[in-house]
Amino acid sequence: MNIETLVRPNIRALSPYSSARSEFKGKAEIFIDANENPFETGMNRYPDPLQWKLKAQISKIKEVPVENIFLGNGSDEVIDLLIRIFCEPRVDHVLSLPPTYGMYKVSAGIADVKIKEVLLTEDYQPRVAETMEAVNEHTKILFLCSPNNPTANDMDPSRVEALLEQFPGIVVIDEAYIDFSQQTSFIQHIEKYPNLLVMQTFSKAWGLAGIRLGMAFASTEIIQYLNKVKPPYNVNQLTQSAALEALQDTAKQSEWVSTLLEERETLSTSLAQYDFVQKVYPSNANFIMAKVERPKELYQFLVQRGIIVRDRSNVPLCEGCLRFTVGRPDENRKLLAALNAYI
Ligand SMILES: *Cc1c(COP(=O)(O)O)cnc(C)c1O
Repeated sequence: MNIETLVRPNIRALSPYSSARSEFKGKAEIFIDANENPFETGMNRYPDPLQWKLKAQISKIKEVPVENIFLGNGSDEVIDLLIRIFCEPRVDHVLSLPPTYGMYKVSAGIADVKIKEVLLTEDYQPRVAETMEAVNEHTKILFLCSPNNPTANDMDPSRVEALLEQFPGIVVIDEAYIDFSQQTSFIQHIEKYPNLLVMQTFSKAWGLAGIRLGMAFASTEIIQYLNKVKPPYNVNQLTQSAALEALQDTAKQSEWVSTLLEERETLSTSLAQYDFVQKVYPSNANFIMAKVERPKELYQFLVQRGIIVRDRSNVPLCEGCLRFTVGRPDENRKLLAALNAYI
């Protein structure tokens, strides 16, 4: 597949902004090229626009070459950039498979790009044939989310591969929750599929939602376009430093994940025992979706006790459902105590 032909003509023709920090790459003593304040504050210099040091670390951990990695101000920036690279406003459109993450639709809406939606099956799997029927020459991006938010399940890899084989545009697999799943990442497939982009994030398993750092893994063709259109200093110095520090201690991340997986199982079992809980969906993520008898009433009851869950009861195919993020053990105990009081 030729990525070039999928790109908007104005983006193909664009000469990107060339920052002072990217024009001179060698070693020097005096930097008077960027109008920075010369007095040392620890933050007086512009950050590395391409985050080489951070990418080198990520490259080791993920076993992906640096040239196949892009870092953004959260995964949300990656979603926005992809839509602006590939979709001509009011002409092209993207595809998503709801119930799923809300940002695909919002980002498309901001860019004045239509989103076509093909509902997942009753057990939250992609409908491959129906999805392909929705495709025409203006379909540029397909968003898949696995494990999916808010339904918490993995997408069946054989269906994902069928879509990768057939879809004639960019396939995004959003793996924000992959660290909580037994499923293997699709990162290993970026060599085979030049139109595949896999997103992961520091916001969930890494415990760094506050620094806003999203990762994208894809062919060099796609990565080059992301670099071409991104704001020059899209990942700030505080974020780059905090991420590098976190990557030094991967044991802590694994420990959090295993605690959360144990808690997820305990919480799922406990939730299933209440009469007002009609169904607890299996989870491959750090949250649990459960169908309850009176979702709005239960939501309000928990709010009054200082516990905020996510009400998804109005979302098609999630009728009656609340989404519970797996908390710390003490928080989960308080949730269960509140549910006992609700009976
Ligand atoms: C939480 C989440 C993200 C993370 O987005 P960031 O911008 O990296 O914080 C991405 N995708 C899905 C499906 C999510 O639920």
